[in-house]
Amino acid sequence: MKAKLIIPIIIVCIVISIIYWNNSSKKIPFISKKEISYKSDTILILNLEFKETKLLKPIMEKVTSFYHLPVVLKSAKLPQYAYYKPRNRYRADSILNFLERYNKKHYRFIAALTSKDISHTNTQKKVKDYGIIGLGSLSNKGCITSSFKLKKKDTEAKLLERLQKVTLHEIGHNHGLPHCNSAHPCFMKDAKGKLTTIDNWPMDLCEDCREDIGLNP
Ligand SMILES: [Zn+2]
Ligand SMILES: [Zn+2]
Repeated sequence: MKAKLIIPIIIVCIVISIIYWNNSSKKIPFISKKEISYKSDTILILNLEFKETKLLKPIMEKVTSFYHLPVVLKSAKLPQYAYYKPRNRYRADSILNFLERYNKKHYRFIAALTSKDISHTNTQKKVKDYGIIGLGSLSNKGCITSSFKLKKKDTEAKLLERLQKVTLHEIGHNHGLPHCNSAHPCFMKDAKGKLTTIDNWPMDLCEDCREDIGLNP
């Protein structure tokens, strides 16, 4: 009796492992922890009044080669409701809400770029309108990178490198990655708005962060 049962059990095990293998081979390598489904795997690079347009191509090339996802480029105007008149800048959290509405769960991620100054409410520093370089939501409402504070009289090559790193960092947040506390070099470390920290970031994630989002080198 026992011997007769073993064969069906083995067959069932094989079937289960085949189903599992099929599922895992079809799986997109990195799915947001929130498990939201998107219509496309593409990352939309959105030009939101970004003036350094010749840097868009090398930024897109970096994003697609790093995250192994296709990229497309579109442009749009910054939403007026994000404008904060007292400081003549745009509220990054409002921009992220705009991106979520713009996206309608179509693109896997939207990474927006702007040359305008951006800000948000810094709860740690208790500052209502705090200037920032970039913002990316952990629940993938998109992300925004601003070149406004990145220029600082440096070369165009330096500006490009910083824009690439900050864009990769914000897309990292969209993947669900928080700031990294690893002892190893990683662009997911908190820059705290410091250009020197961004310049010291490698153009890479540490192994822990890579593993968290299932990203192969
Ligand atoms: Zn960050
Ligand atoms: Zn890391």
